[in-house]
Amino acid sequence: MSHRYKCILLFGAPGSGKGTQGKILGQVPGFFHLACGDVFRSLDLASPLGKKFMTHSSKGELVPDELTVEMWQQNMKAQVALSIFKPAQDLLVLDGIPRTVSQAKALQNYIDVLAVLHLICPDQKEMVRRMRRRALKENRLDDADEKVIHHRFDVYRNETEPVLSYYPANIIHEVPATESPSMVLMSVLDLVAPIQDHHFKNPLTL
Ligand code: AMP
Repeated sequence: MSHRYKCILLFGAPGSGKGTQGKILGQVPGFFHLACGDVFRSLDLASPLGKKFMTHSSKGELVPDELTVEMWQQNMKAQVALSIFKPAQDLLVLDGIPRTVSQAKALQNYIDVLAVLHLICPDQKEMVRRMRRRALKENRLDDADEKVIHHRFDVYRNETEPVLSYYPANIIHEVPATESPSMVLMSVLDLVAPIQDHHFKNPLTL
């Protein structure tokens, strides 16, 4: 691929609100939101990859890097081929990937990360409450079990947090994420609106 997708990463612990903010941004023309967990959940759970996903996610573990990156690449290709994601005009908003340094390295050839929005919620109890609400609403096994939830936080600290040091400090923005979705959205928009405006005025020539 000659051009890397211009991209904004939504980063944060489970329950920090990446999905909520990503879904809202995805409604704004010029943003294309892709949540890695949603792509996994859309798989046929009887397929070999679907089964692998269930095995790992039900324990609060990450799906192995190679499978994840391969699935992400296939999905992105399909979104571009179907013109759902238009890389010349749209900013890609990635949520839940990369989740390991090895994934960040593998994605480096495909994405040009303009900003990393690090959603910070220092209150772990609040994040757990959000995950439990989501478990009920979306029937998510991985967010229903207390032990699995706590393991997800350990995995986040050990495997995902180090991804932050992979990117230059000047593109990482801390977003307080304890407030209501609309307050968080204001902070998110403050950061992404100028980036979108620049991309809008300087579209890629593919
Ligand atoms: P999420 O919806 O982002 O909370 O993801 C749900 C589950 O999907 C995670 O606990 C992992 O098992 C799997 N998953 C999602 N994204 C990734 C990723 N980038 N790498 C590995 N596993 C992932």
